[in-house]
Amino acid sequence: MERLQKVMSNCGIASRRASEQMILDGRVRVNGVIVRELGTKVNPDKDIILVDGKRLEAQPKHYYLFNKPKGVITTSSDDQGRPTVMDYFRKEKDRIYAVGRLDQNTEGLLLMTNDGELANILMHPSTMVDKTYEVKVKGRISDTILQNLADGVPLEDGMTAPADVYYVGFDSKSGLTTIEITIHEGKNRQVRRMIEHFGFQVHNLRRVQYAFLTLSGVKRGSYRSLKPEEVAELY
Ligand code: URA
Repeated sequence: MERLQKVMSNCGIASRRASEQMILDGRVRVNGVIVRELGTKVNPDKDIILVDGKRLEAQPKHYYLFNKPKGVITTSSDDQGRPTVMDYFRKEKDRIYAVGRLDQNTEGLLLMTNDGELANILMHPSTMVDKTYEVKVKGRISDTILQNLADGVPLEDGMTAPADVYYVGFDSKSGLTTIEITIHEGKNRQVRRMIEHFGFQVHNLRRVQYAFLTLSGVKRGSYRSLKPEEVAELY
């Protein structure tokens, strides 16, 4: 017997958390009865599970590495009609979703999948996937501030964990400093808030690496499937 939300996310219907919400919203029936209890255990081989009236069936798993453009929202639909990541995956039949989130104005590497189990592992705070961001900051940043960024920044929701900070260069024409920051956690808007803490403005933020995966060969607005060995390495 397994927890209903785990069975749902393993089938690729949604992430574990979104599956829980579907249960709470009364969209899930087990053997004809609406279930709203999050602890409910089911037998995926015997019980008949319906979500929005449709039988839950295991879907083939998909894994995509997407290069999200700026201005695109990491959500499956937006009630204000703004472009979402799903607009780029219209030709994919199975429902997929993003592993974590990039801000609307952040570009770069975003994993998309229907593998709820993997999404759950990668998003769990204890997993600590390395995420590298290329940050273009207005003005010059001193070595002291770079060191402070690396050591940890006191944000309102706590101190950031030590980060790897690499100075790329200063462009006198644009007045922008480029740095690369690798963080191992994922607080909301973390990189922007770390930079803004020191009174600097972020001009551009791009995630260039997630774990061992890079944007190499994937143009802005396009995606590629992960190779089976890449998926195995993420697990
Ligand atoms: N840090 C941010 O500030 N924004 C993102 O989208 C990702 C990390």
